Amino acid sequence: MKDRFGREINYLRLSVTPECNLRCRYCRPEEEEGIRCGALLTEDEMITAVSAAAELGITKLRITGGEPLLYKNILSLCNRISAVPGIVETAITTNGTNLAALAKPLYRAGVRRVNISLDTLDPGKYADMTGGGDIRRVLDGIGAALDAGFKTVKLNAVLIGGFNDDEIRALAEITKKMPLDVRFIELMPMAGNRVFSEDAYIPADTVLAALPELEPWKAGTEENRSTARLYRLPGAYGRVGLISPVSADFCAFCSRLRLTADGMVKPCLHSPAEYCLKGLDKDGMTEVFWKAVQEKPLRRGALSPKANNTQPRPMNRIGG
Ligand code: SAM
Repeated sequence: MKDRFGREINYLRLSVTPECNLRCRYCRPEEEEGIRCGALLTEDEMITAVSAAAELGITKLRITGGEPLLYKNILSLCNRISAVPGIVETAITTNGTNLAALAKPLYRAGVRRVNISLDTLDPGKYADMTGGGDIRRVLDGIGAALDAGFKTVKLNAVLIGGFNDDEIRALAEITKKMPLDVRFIELMPMAGNRVFSEDAYIPADTVLAALPELEPWKAGTEENRSTARLYRLPGAYGRVGLISPVSADFCAFCSRLRLTADGMVKPCLHSPAEYCLKGLDKDGMTEVFWKAVQEKPLRRGALSPKANNTQPRPMNRIGG
C-alpha cells in the first residue's frame, strides 16, 4: 500500500510485550509509573491485526518489544504470524539473553532473521548499561543464532559517546570472525532517556572516522537502499551498517508502521500520533491501519539532544 507521498508501506513492527528483563538506560526509564500503556493485545488480536495489515500490503513483520522472548506464547505466535497469507518474512529483535534455548525453535516457528542488541563487549559496561544484564547469555545467544540457520543475524549497537565510542573497532571486527552484520545506531532522544549528556549523541559517521578502511558495500544499489548505509571491512564475512536517525533521517525510504503491545498503530516513531485498534474486529483494524498510513508524515519532527521530543512513550513501550 502507498502512503500520500508515494512511499510503499510494507513493513510492520509488532511489539508483543512492553516487559523487559533488562533496563537499558537509553530505552527503559527508571520510573515507569504513569507512562501510557493500556490493556495488552491478546494473541488472537495480534494475529487478526497482522492479517488485516497483510491484506493491505504488509509483507515483512518484525516481532519486538519490550523483550519479545519474554512473551509466554512466543513460539506459537511466531508460527501463526509466519502462516498469515501475505507475510513473506518474519524477523525478531531481541536482547539475546534468552536466545540460546530459543534460537532453533524460533527458526522452526518460521522466523528467518534475528537482530540482537549488544552495545559493548565489556561485561562490566554491559551490566552497567543494561541494569544488571549478563553478557555471557547474549554471547551464547549469538552463537545459537548462528547455528540455527537464520538468513541474517545482525548485532545492533547504539553508539554512545563516552560509553562505547572506544569499542567501535572491536565491535565492527566481529564481522571478521563471524558471519553476521554489525550495525551502529545513533542514540535517539526518546522519552525517559534524558539522562545522557549532549556528548553522548555522536553521529554514525564517527564510525567512518574510526575505521578508514571500511569499503562501501554495493553503494547506490537497491540492496543498499535502506535505513542502514552499508560498508565492509576488508576480508570480513559480514557488513557494517550505519543507521543515522538523528544526523540524517531516512524518512524518504520509510516503509514502516508500528503496532504497540497495547494496540496503538504508530505511523512514525518520532510523532506522538497513534491510533487504537484494541478490541476491534478485522474490518475495524483494517480501517485503523489505513488511516495510520494516510497520516504518515513526510518527515519526522526535529530530533536532537536539544530539541524537545514530542513522543511521550519510551522505546520499550513502542517497540524498536
Ligand atoms: N528488547 C529487544 C532488544 O533489546 O533488542 C527489543 C526491543 S528494543 C526497544 C529494540 C532496539 O531499540 C534495540 O536494538 C535498542 O538498542 C534500540 N533502542 C532503544 N532505545 C533506543 C534509543 N534511545 N536510541 C537508539 N536505539 C534505541
